[in-house]
Amino acid sequence: MFCRNCGTENADGAPTCISCGAPLTNPNPFEPGAAPGGGPVATGGVKPPNYLVQAILVTLCCCLPLGIVSIVYAAQVDSKWNSGDQQGALAASENAKKWCWIAFGLGVVANLIAVAIQVAAVGAAGAGAGAGGGGF
Ligand SMILES: [Zn+2]
Repeated sequence: MFCRNCGTENADGAPTCISCGAPLTNPNPFEPGAAPGGGPVATGGVKPPNYLVQAILVTLCCCLPLGIVSIVYAAQVDSKWNSGDQQGALAASENAKKWCWIAFGLGVVANLIAVAIQVAAVGAAGAGAGAGGGGF
């Protein structure tokens, strides 16, 4: 083992350093890495994103009812964070993100279905009216 004080190599189990006499058996109480106090902070003191912009966008563009759910959770992020509820703010942030994606996914699927219906309708109209239909 190496002396913590001067770095000299000593025999394992030696009580003191052969070079400087520092005790080898006791760990250094001031060793870095064993930071005392503090305590775990789940979010590291950084407010989680509230996804409010995304929630509003999916509400307007994709799916209104699910977007509103997302907006509700997004609003809870700020209110819970401001009241000191870090865990609640984090959970609300996760829920806002989840409902944003659900609303977005449903909106995309709904739009795809709408496009498919339009394509089918145009195709049927085109097939029925022939090439001379000319649109409207
Ligand atoms: Zn030493």
